[in-house]
Amino acid sequence: MLEAPATAIFSIFYSVFCTGFLCQFREFRGSGLSPEALLATGDWLGSEQIRFLRYHMKRTAGTFVIHSLLPLVYLLSLSYISVTMDLSHPSLHHYWQESPLVYNSLLLSLLLPITALTLLWYWSRDDWLQHPFSSPLLAYSSSLPSLAADIDTQFRRIDKICLRTSPLQQLVVTDSWLILVGAWPWSLRICQQSEVALQLVGSDHHVISTEGELGGTQYLTIQVTSRRAEVAPFTFRLNSLEYQNLQDRLDSTIHNARNVQVYKTVSERFVEVFKEQVSGNPRAEHTGELEPCIGCMTEPSNVKLQRVCPSSSPAPPGVDPPAESCVNCYCRPMWCIDCMAKWFASRQDQSSPETWLGSRCPCPTCRSKFCVLDVCLLS
Ligand SMILES: [Zn+2]
Ligand SMILES: [Zn+2]
Ligand SMILES: [Zn+2]
Repeated sequence: MLEAPATAIFSIFYSVFCTGFLCQFREFRGSGLSPEALLATGDWLGSEQIRFLRYHMKRTAGTFVIHSLLPLVYLLSLSYISVTMDLSHPSLHHYWQESPLVYNSLLLSLLLPITALTLLWYWSRDDWLQHPFSSPLLAYSSSLPSLAADIDTQFRRIDKICLRTSPLQQLVVTDSWLILVGAWPWSLRICQQSEVALQLVGSDHHVISTEGELGGTQYLTIQVTSRRAEVAPFTFRLNSLEYQNLQDRLDSTIHNARNVQVYKTVSERFVEVFKEQVSGNPRAEHTGELEPCIGCMTEPSNVKLQRVCPSSSPAPPGVDPPAESCVNCYCRPMWCIDCMAKWFASRQDQSSPETWLGSRCPCPTCRSKFCVLDVCLLS
């Protein structure tokens, strides 16, 4: 059997680690492997609640230094593992002598943290006035300390909202400011609420949700344009469930010129998933006049409940029959698919939407239990 050298295994492990760490996957953040958690040791960061801007200046500068260390740590560990575990050379000195590429890269990678630390020192001068965050702030006031104090005060109020727009980005909306902060020192975007126009420019669906939400997640892309010429427009992505929350906090309305459909609630999104599932079910025969749906009174009724799922077929001997099974319903079609989906959603456990699609619900008229497989569109 061919054995992989320890350096190769380490390289794979390290690249996975770096991807997770740089992108801040949930597992990394959850287990405290975030720049914030590392920087918080020794209380260097201070409190976000008390000094919002200072906290993020330090956080982004610190993150920059931590990221700059990653190549150096890799090359040092690689050299060490190669000598001690793969026994490629008698000592580190020999290894570096015979691998000039590693040695030179090591020297080069030393420059990164030195540069980052020098920048951090430079930024921190004059009470952090030199930090790159200052340049977007200068568009609003030439006296940065008083502007910073104003933003800090507004951030302390309970009616501000903080939305995590991505693992690396946070949107903060206070009484008069709209602030987007990312991971790095150049990532501050700030606009005065009274001067912005927000526009919904697109949306994308992800079938698999990292948050375990039913029917995946819809992300909206929102563009922020300021009436001040020196403030460049920027965009951010937002989970559609946060849309209403954001809109409520804004003074202006979010324009939706492209008519993007926004699923603001879990139920709205469930209706889409439900309809998709039902469209794959067998059709039901129906002859005769169709009445309007008694839920909305506008659409004609177009679904019939017809038990087709295998839930109540006789259980094999020795196996207990399922506690709950579907029952045949003989009601005539009285509902449209949208209303049926909303009814179905309303009868489920609201705290665990991921179980909805696999659950049962009573027929709105005769109370016979049915599941999503028993909902048939009329042919
Ligand atoms: Zn209806
Ligand atoms: Zn029925
Ligand atoms: Zn069923």
